Amino acid sequence: MHDVIVVGAGPSGSSSALFLARRGLDVLIIEKKRLPRYKVCAGGTSRYIFELLGVPPSYFDAFNIEKLKVCYEDRVREYSIPGNSIFTLHRDRFDYKLTKLACQNGAKLIDGEEVIEIEEENNSLTVKTNLGHKFKTRYLIGADGVGSKIARFIGSKFRYRIPLAIQKDIPYKDPEPTISLFMGLVPMGYGWIFPKDDTLSIGIGAYSFSPRRMPQVLSKLLKDFDRKDIPILAHPIAFYRGKKRLATKNVILVGDSAHIADPFSGEGIRNGIKSAKIAEETITECIKKNKPLSFYTERLYNAMARELFLAWMMSGIFYKFQGRIFNLMDRFDMGTILSNLLNEKISYLQILKKLLKRIFYRTYLMVFS
Ligand SMILES: Cc1cc2nc3c(=O)[nH]c(=O)nc-3n(C[C@H](O)[C@H](O)[C@H](O)COP(=O)(O)OP(=O)(O)OC[C@H]3O[C@@H](n4cnc5c(N)ncnc54)[C@H](O)[C@@H]3O)c2cc1C
Repeated sequence: MHDVIVVGAGPSGSSSALFLARRGLDVLIIEKKRLPRYKVCAGGTSRYIFELLGVPPSYFDAFNIEKLKVCYEDRVREYSIPGNSIFTLHRDRFDYKLTKLACQNGAKLIDGEEVIEIEEENNSLTVKTNLGHKFKTRYLIGADGVGSKIARFIGSKFRYRIPLAIQKDIPYKDPEPTISLFMGLVPMGYGWIFPKDDTLSIGIGAYSFSPRRMPQVLSKLLKDFDRKDIPILAHPIAFYRGKKRLATKNVILVGDSAHIADPFSGEGIRNGIKSAKIAEETITECIKKNKPLSFYTERLYNAMARELFLAWMMSGIFYKFQGRIFNLMDRFDMGTILSNLLNEKISYLQILKKLLKRIFYRTYLMVFS
């Protein structure tokens, strides 16, 4: 019997396996696709995740981003990004290296096999795969992404309409280390061009926009890159939209399967790895004290829910009033703000407090001067 089975070898699953294997536990990862597998993703991330993983960005050949460009209609603002703080990743390469790192630390991997059923006995679970194999485990981690089977198994339902993002990856030699964000392109969403060492990931994502019309909008960003042979790929984004059940006595959800992607920045990798760290702490504590995992839900939301909620609120304002927000941007050093936010040196709460202070100060000056 394994101590832990992890379903899914994305960043959330592989980092969970890595952290638990480093603790000396018997961990098995089951991934339905053959690795390395492609994942639609802009791959934007920050130094913070490498610190959580305890591995430098160079290990994953992360591409260092030096500049941020924000575009609205025909206007462009440019900002510098503090050194070595924001990176992009090729998800197939990053995820695979992370899985291999977990295996080098003692985890076992079965890829090309899908988990289709779970049976619960007294103090163990039996995991069944599409190839008819059965594996017994004490604990199970659901890291199987949006539409998670494991979430369904524990009765955790995400009923709201899940936003969609689409993207095309264009091979491109020596791109500039600049990420470009496009506001005003799509209601309640934005477009992006993210360079990776040999590729440009060009995409759009929106909260509520007709999926059929999305390729038409994306074509505005693709106009300089005539690669009709490369398909546009779509994938839902597991934004946070309120609390759910994320654990039972022996099963927990991490990453996209727990719907904890940041509703403001669109990032899911960082919160996925953060949830893996919390899963590691919870499981090791429960093994030591022989107690159920159920308190993971509360522990995870204590660590994340306030920031996720504020990100959700701020995204509502930001994406609704894109023109006005763009006009305000000349007063702020957006490169440093973005870097600090993604590296958790500043919180949404602190940003909101600063904004409110500014608004009150301006109102005070208007009324009393
Ligand atoms: C277009 C787009 C752009 C994005 N850009 C960014 C970005 O720039 N930065 C960022 O941080 N985030 C971004 N995201 C979000 C990010 O991709 C996800 O949040 C992230 O992949 C979550 O990782 P995960 O490990 O939880 O899930 P996933 O990466 O989805 O991994 C889940 C794994 O589980 C496997 N699996 C599923 N079901 C089973 C099963 N039954 N049995 C076995 N295996 C199974 C899947 O094959 C998959 O490998 C973007 C998303 C989209 C769609």
